[in-house]
Amino acid sequence: MISKKEYNKRVMLKYFLYAIGVILGVCLLLWLFKVTNTTAFFEVMENKTFDLRQKNIANTKQVNKNIVILTVDNESHEYLAEKYGEWPMPRSVYADISAFIEKQQPAAIAFDLMFVNSMKSSKEADIRLAKEFKNNSNLYTAINFDSLDEQIRKAQPLPNKLKVNIKNESKINFKNQTLTYSNCRRIIDEIIDATANIGHINLVRADDGIARKISPFVTYKNDFYPHLALKVGLDYLKKTENIDSKNIFIDKNKNLILGSRKIPLDYTGSAILNWYGASGEYNPNSFKYIPIWKLEKLTYGEKLENNDELAKDFFKDKIVYIGVSATSMYDIKSTPTERNMPGVELHTTFINNLIDNNFIKRVPAAVDLLITLTISLIIGFIVLSFASTVAASLTSIMLGILYVIFSTWVMRDYNLWVNMTLPLSSALFTFIGVYLVKYFRKSQDFEHTYKLATTDGLTELYNHRYFQEQMILNIETAKRYNSHFSLILIDIDFFKKFNDKFGHQSGDAVLKQVAQTLKKNVRSTDIVCRYGGEEMAVILSNTKTEEAFITAQKLCDEVAGRIFDLANNQKEHVTISLGVSTYPDNGSTSQELIEYADQGLYKAKENGRNQVGKI
Ligand code: GH3
Ligand code: MG
Ligand code: MG
Repeated sequence: MISKKEYNKRVMLKYFLYAIGVILGVCLLLWLFKVTNTTAFFEVMENKTFDLRQKNIANTKQVNKNIVILTVDNESHEYLAEKYGEWPMPRSVYADISAFIEKQQPAAIAFDLMFVNSMKSSKEADIRLAKEFKNNSNLYTAINFDSLDEQIRKAQPLPNKLKVNIKNESKINFKNQTLTYSNCRRIIDEIIDATANIGHINLVRADDGIARKISPFVTYKNDFYPHLALKVGLDYLKKTENIDSKNIFIDKNKNLILGSRKIPLDYTGSAILNWYGASGEYNPNSFKYIPIWKLEKLTYGEKLENNDELAKDFFKDKIVYIGVSATSMYDIKSTPTERNMPGVELHTTFINNLIDNNFIKRVPAAVDLLITLTISLIIGFIVLSFASTVAASLTSIMLGILYVIFSTWVMRDYNLWVNMTLPLSSALFTFIGVYLVKYFRKSQDFEHTYKLATTDGLTELYNHRYFQEQMILNIETAKRYNSHFSLILIDIDFFKKFNDKFGHQSGDAVLKQVAQTLKKNVRSTDIVCRYGGEEMAVILSNTKTEEAFITAQKLCDEVAGRIFDLANNQKEHVTISLGVSTYPDNGSTSQELIEYADQGLYKAKENGRNQVGKI
């Protein structure tokens, strides 16, 4: 028996060793991910869990009703193309629609459209639109950057008024990222001359093609250009807040500082969007869509049924975003949640996030690692300390579900993105790993218990019970294969006297050494047992009488020829007497064979000991 203190110490040590094992295991796993380039795979998986979380929480958020979308949808495209006989329709139509909306004093009108030079466009209409831009400081439009060869398209020089200055104290290297471009799609000079309200509309897509981020800035010829949505949003905020939109500051924690707001940027300098409910007419939480054909009709004096509000003051103080959703014209942009017009909703969502100050922030990698380690340790403890596998599995699954709920909750209430894939997969690996270790240790324990149950503590020979089992087994085997085996019984001579003379301790020492001598001098397949007291037995499988007598004689000689060490440094000779029996010659049951060998042993004693007795 060990003391309670000692027991507690052992348990502590076990858990300590196990904790170190889990930590090392997780580190090894992370390292393996890195060297095998599995990180990219895990990032894709993680993005998918982000989408799931976004889908779950999107409907709990309300869009800002001051952001509306004017859409060139399928119907509008059909109607306008037919009415004007060409596409793009004359830019003067956009100018007239803008002028119509301007009368209602909107906060801003933003074209998520690029007015590029076109063979079809009429110069006059373009100049008319440019004039509209010149007259209204709340009209915005877009430009797009790329890296096309200058031999194909000469890069457009852009005026200073479109640039922003960035004071960057973070480690984000804008010049090092994918959002650095060498070329720029030309838009008509008249518009560039007329306004500074032009922002980029370049897109950030993840490896799986889904757009989850917007890069507030791109670099082009060493200068920074803001995103269209950032420009519109900033000007909207500037009305009530003191924000310098020309001189941008990014603090050392990668936060884009805009007045009282801190917009978290990721390591590439992009902002992660926090989506609102799935878009569509039937979702009251989502952005309102208005097909542009309605505005075109109102602009040119036609009446619409049930659309009085559009004609009067519907657009007052609103941000009006104009984009294309006609299937023939817009490139499909996948987003985490279902959108009708993902392209323009990337912009409106950005502005809405800006107003709500609820961009998604990814927690630092160290926090993800800490969570991963904690969950793995807990799972490991559960597996280790629960006796029932079913209970351990169920508890682990429950913990996994709780973590999924937790990570969704922190995203909904704190706009935080904690890693889901890494902790859960690490927990799974830990579950399997610790379970295997536990299983392995259990089987080791079983072996140990089995050994304890079959061996004799003093001599380390097999015990009496094992001897009896082996006798029966050998009889059965010999019976089936029609073979034979022999048994030698051994008794130490005058052992009582020996004990009396040298003491019990010396007797024990001699018992041990005799046992060793016996073991050493038989085949490894032979079974040496302590029969009881100072009596021992050897079962010689597949051995006939003659061979058994030779072995018995050898054992007798070996013991007689050996000097034994006693407890008190004395040395002494000891002899043994032996009896032999063989199956099936001398008996067919265990009892008969033992009795026959015992008779031989008796004969040996009778004839003067230190010999093999013969009947
Ligand atoms: P014999 O030559 O006739 O066998 O004489 P003996 O004295 O050995 O007689 P017997 O076999 O009847 O005596 C057995 C003795 O062995 C009794 C006991 O003192 C001693 N003995 C039995 N088991 C142990 C043990 O585990 N340790 C020690 N030290 N002595 C034992
Ligand atoms: Mg005896
Ligand atoms: Mg004896």
